[in-house]
Amino acid sequence: MSKLLLIVLVFVLAWWILKSYRKSMTREDPPTAAAAEDMVRCAHCGVHLPRSECYAGSDKFFCSEEHLRLHR
Ligand SMILES: [Zn+2]
Repeated sequence: MSKLLLIVLVFVLAWWILKSYRKSMTREDPPTAAAAEDMVRCAHCGVHLPRSECYAGSDKFFCSEEHLRLHR
């Protein structure tokens, strides 16, 4: 009888660990989803960067002010 109780206890413990593990996995999801910003490509060197950090030319995007200037 005590053996059965031990098996049940092990199952409950394993389930509880798995549940808390999944919880910690999903907790890390929101920052990555928020980081999925629109990415643009520098027309000069081809590096990818977030749209909010780029320098926009007439119809192209650049990673730095210098590349924007060099492209002109
Ligand atoms: Zn560049």
